[in-house]
Amino acid sequence: MIDIDRLLHEVGARRDSLVELTRELVAIPTLNPPGGNYLDICQLLRKRFERSGFEVELHRASGSPGDSDRFPRWNIVARRDGAHPGPCVHFNGHTDVVAVGRDWTRDPFAGEIIDGRIYGRGTCDMKGGLAAAIVAAETFVQLVPDFRGAVEISATADEETGGYGGVAWLAENGWFNSERVQHVIIPEPLNKDRICLGHRGVWWAEIETRGRIAHGSMPFLGDCAVRHMGAVLHAFETDLFPALAKKSTAMPVVPVGARQSTLNINAIHGGEPEQEVDFDGLPAPCVPDRCRMVIDRRFLFEESLTEVKTEISDILGRLRRERPGFDYALRDVFEVLPVMADEDAPVVTTVSDAIHRVLGRKPEFVVSPGTYDQKHIDRIGRMKNCIAYGPGILDLAHQPDEWIGIDDMVDSARIMSVSLAALLSNGRE
Ligand SMILES: [Zn+2]
Repeated sequence: MIDIDRLLHEVGARRDSLVELTRELVAIPTLNPPGGNYLDICQLLRKRFERSGFEVELHRASGSPGDSDRFPRWNIVARRDGAHPGPCVHFNGHTDVVAVGRDWTRDPFAGEIIDGRIYGRGTCDMKGGLAAAIVAAETFVQLVPDFRGAVEISATADEETGGYGGVAWLAENGWFNSERVQHVIIPEPLNKDRICLGHRGVWWAEIETRGRIAHGSMPFLGDCAVRHMGAVLHAFETDLFPALAKKSTAMPVVPVGARQSTLNINAIHGGEPEQEVDFDGLPAPCVPDRCRMVIDRRFLFEESLTEVKTEISDILGRLRRERPGFDYALRDVFEVLPVMADEDAPVVTTVSDAIHRVLGRKPEFVVSPGTYDQKHIDRIGRMKNCIAYGPGILDLAHQPDEWIGIDDMVDSARIMSVSLAALLSNGRE
């Protein structure tokens, strides 16, 4: 049998290596958009994986959204086969980070260590989690070379902008399917004692109201598209928002405010384009003939996408019947169905037992309000045995002075290595 105590001790002994790897990853500014330096980060990882005896492949998601010769979408997949046939456990981490933003008091790419924390953009979301998975896998394959099955780690592009140049591309090209991969763990920052089973669904759409342009001094000669949009907003306030607040879910979404259906108005614009910053003249007086609004509807396992869309088209249809001159167009922008692994899926019970073993308590099962790359593994790869589990405090993601706790990374790496031992032990060591 695998000596679990020794495995836990060995992961702890690699604490410095884990910190160093995290800092090296953070030092490469893989800001997305535009999605820069993906090749650099893949090359860094390639060297690391090759030293640890993994087979490595780099793949560019040519032709994916955002891919160009200036900003190519590079991904890396590393694999180490065991001594016997068995399942493949795959860890997937995204390499891109969001914009730095304002209000930092630390260098966002220096990986400063202060009081047991590493600071920097992407430490928490999710270079620290990726580093923890790598150290967990390295330790496991070195201590248990006789394991069965395979360990794979992918580091992928573009999660922050939908994952089309990363996990979606790998899934479309056969990397994620239940023939070759059986268990997937995505080390997103969900806190070291929580297992994220999935996420709510998304529908983004653009609503355009139409009017007729005229001189602003004689608005009665035109038809104001912004006023028509006002009627849409009024109907949202009186009918839609109260109805959404009544829809609740059995999904354990955190924060609990997201356990109902939600709608955000991402943007609204009507009339002349907003003026360039260097133009200081007056606007021209015109009745707006177009107004556009982008809505961001997040929906629940209990709702269908058809129902979600019908709520909106019903409101627009009613306005067309009842409001003189009302005309509109409705355009889909983006849609993702909700996904959720079963609580008794093998990867869930395995990681749950490992959390119990390492931290001495049972994990909390949660669901994310927003989506992440699990959507592509579920929908394109048709794999349900997938979770997000990793170190880092979710609320710190995308914030100024983002950090990750070093102890949390070590604990999470221990939990991942114990999970590997449980899934890939051949029972004879
Ligand atoms: Zn992330």
